[in-house]
Amino acid sequence: MYKKLTRIIPNCLECGDKIHYGRADKKFCSEECKSKYYNELGKVSRTYRRRVLSSISRNYEILDQLICSGIDNISLVDIMTLGFVPGIMTSHSRIRGRDECACFDIKYYMTESRIYSIMKIRNVSLPLQDF
Ligand SMILES: [Zn+2]
Repeated sequence: MYKKLTRIIPNCLECGDKIHYGRADKKFCSEECKSKYYNELGKVSRTYRRRVLSSISRNYEILDQLICSGIDNISLVDIMTLGFVPGIMTSHSRIRGRDECACFDIKYYMTESRIYSIMKIRNVSLPLQDF
């Protein structure tokens, strides 16, 4: 009962061509495909980071404007209409059943339908390392 070992021929991750030679775990058919693949990967990652950072900035500006206007509580629908992205924040903790979120030095609580107790954190202490 011998099974004939057949070599599984991998496909190039970039162009999809079969890779007929080299190690079985080879991922690319050529150096060109390899660098093309990783360049694209870097672009996707940079674009993602840029989008997250711009969303954080926009969220902060929106929260800051609400505080300046004396508004400390708003429906998620309304704040999202202003461009707020609820899933993006700089910190989150669940305290006594409440979701406490922060966008830099602005703290707020979030439910499925509202954001409330929006306020600036006084005496912000940064648990960051000195450079
Ligand atoms: Zn290829």
